[in-house]
Parts: sequence; C-alpha cells; structure tokens
Amino acid sequence: MLQSGATVTDIVQTLHVSTLTVQRTRKAIGMPAHLRGRWSESLAEAFAVRTEPAPGGHVRWTGCVSNKGMPVVSYLRTKVSAYRVAFRAHYGRDPVGLPKPGCGYPRCVAGAHLEDQPMRVRNRETFAAIFGSEVAR
Ligand SMILES: [Zn+2]
Repeated sequence: MLQSGATVTDIVQTLHVSTLTVQRTRKAIGMPAHLRGRWSESLAEAFAVRTEPAPGGHVRWTGCVSNKGMPVVSYLRTKVSAYRVAFRAHYGRDPVGLPKPGCGYPRCVAGAHLEDQPMRVRNRETFAAIFGSEVAR
C-alpha cells in the first residue's frame, strides 16, 4: 500500500495497524520518513476527517481539544494545532504567533476565519481608523 501511494490514514484504517507500524514499514522498505513539522497530505487528511461544515461558513472541530481548549490533530504521535493546519492550508504560509479564529464561532477551523498575530494587529488598526480608537479596545 505504501508503494502504491496510499496515505497513512488509508493504511491504518484498511489494515488495522498503528501509525508506528506504518512508519517502521516505511523505514524498513527504504522510503523516506515524514519529517517532523513538514507539511504533508496525510496531515491535511488527518485534519479534514475531524471537521464538519457549520452554518455561516464556519467549520466545526470534532477532534481532540487540548487542556487549554485548543483543537489539536494527533498525527504520527505528535500533536499539532488544528488552527495552524487550517491556517497553513488556507494562506499557504505558516502563521506568525498563535493563530486563532476571529469570527467568534467557538473553535472555528475555517482557514479564512483564522488570524495570526500580524493580522490581528492590522485588523485592530483598521477598525481604529474607521471607527476611532475607542471602539477598537
Ligand atoms: Zn468561523
């Protein structure tokens, strides 16, 4: 399955093996291991199966949540912020600082609804320019 290009998720679900077994098999047959932190299709897939569309263009997170209330994707035994995954998929770059939804929907993981630190600062400045600095606080 690895050599035919199947994803880790496919293999885990079809053969009922752990991701560790897939990793070890990958290594044993000389395929390159996933590099930690590297964007991959399988991470995107691990993210996608834990989301569902919500009214208003929001995306509801159905996966795990950290003890700080942040949606997390468990992937190859590491935990990745679902906000980072969604942000990266939507904007094509890594967020600066912690990305968070700016739409008010709880734990929304719609890529377009996520803001990183520079975007939050810019939005505050824009609101201040339009409505005056009192409203922005
Ligand atoms: Zn939203």
